[in-house]
Amino acid sequence: MNYIEIEKKLGAHNYKPLDVVLTRGEGIWVWDVDGNRYMDCLSAYSAVNQGHCHPRIVDAMVKQAGRLSLTSRAFRNDQLSSFYQVLCRLTNSHKVLPMNSGAEAVETAIKTVRKWGYKNRGIPENKAEIIVCNNNFHGRTITIVSFSSDASARDGFGPFTPGFKNIPFGDANELADAVTENTIAFMAEPIQGEAGVIIPEDGYLKEVRRICDENNLVMILDEIQTGLGRTGKLLAEEHEHVEADMTLIGKALSGGLYPVSAVLSNTEIMDVLNPGEHGSTFGGNPLACAVAITALNVLVDEGMIENSAEMGNYFMKGLSELKNPLIREVRGRGLMIGLEFNPGQTTARQYCEELKNNGILCKETHENIIRFAPPLVVTKDDIDYAMDIIHKVIG
Ligand SMILES: *Cc1c(COP(=O)(O)O)cnc(C)c1O
Repeated sequence: MNYIEIEKKLGAHNYKPLDVVLTRGEGIWVWDVDGNRYMDCLSAYSAVNQGHCHPRIVDAMVKQAGRLSLTSRAFRNDQLSSFYQVLCRLTNSHKVLPMNSGAEAVETAIKTVRKWGYKNRGIPENKAEIIVCNNNFHGRTITIVSFSSDASARDGFGPFTPGFKNIPFGDANELADAVTENTIAFMAEPIQGEAGVIIPEDGYLKEVRRICDENNLVMILDEIQTGLGRTGKLLAEEHEHVEADMTLIGKALSGGLYPVSAVLSNTEIMDVLNPGEHGSTFGGNPLACAVAITALNVLVDEGMIENSAEMGNYFMKGLSELKNPLIREVRGRGLMIGLEFNPGQTTARQYCEELKNNGILCKETHENIIRFAPPLVVTKDDIDYAMDIIHKVIG
């Protein structure tokens, strides 16, 4: 069967995947339809932090699927309360609002802080403003691309949603200067993922926290990619010992088995929502909850967060020994690692193609950055194996 031709003919062309057709996965490994094995160094953009088809999560999913999958929130189900408990215990959050995709969690946060702004801060109607960062990635809906600074995410999709102000990422003074009396929130990724693993200087989030407190702004951290062990902590905010008022998680919340996202919030903000004001048919369904509970427990029980920190350092050390003179920088935190080449001189895509031909799957971000983000179950031996190939391909 010609998978690729059929996809090209019948599918929308909104992606440009590597030409590898996968059929099976286990841990850090995936196999294509011809039986070739690859090490997955993308982890579905960090949605499979726990490794492909983790047996405990699969088991929880199969069991729950055969018992009760969906009730809608018109009725209650016996999995939702446990999901809330596990999440709140792990993250110190007060309240949870379950959704499905990451973009929905972002939209939910925007709606909620706007309502809070009008109700609790007395912002004049339709004037609430949220400050966001240049080069952000928060998803693909119209409202979210309204504050993207990426032309290809926006061009041809207007008119856009007003109420956002963009500032440079990583400079807290810019935030302080941008605040007006109608500013209600600041939203950012703790480390910008799609922008190419951009890590702000130490102290940035702490300073952001201080500015948000001083101006009564809601600090929203989008941890959809950085969260759940990816950076070597459960949440990336822990690296700077700060607590956001709202934290968005998704992706690995289900170990990649099912779309599950959530808005974690303090009580004051979440309490502005009343019945009928927001929801989702599938949000908080018992199948999603059962899968997410196990996905969270697996991360903690199996030491994946610590392993991410340790293996991340080991992998980064290996990558920093590469001799290719076109390499500009290796940076990362935990197993969220970016390898940046000098712009214009090489295409990261070519290296990704070549790595694929040698059994390693990763994806370029922008022209000149390769992200290495294997599942958090990766071992030293696996990294040694990968580094041999990376040396061969990249130099
Ligand atoms: C992937 C991602 C999203 C969007 O998640 P979807 O499930 O694709 O809607 C939002 N924010 C960040 C930081 C992401 O990495």
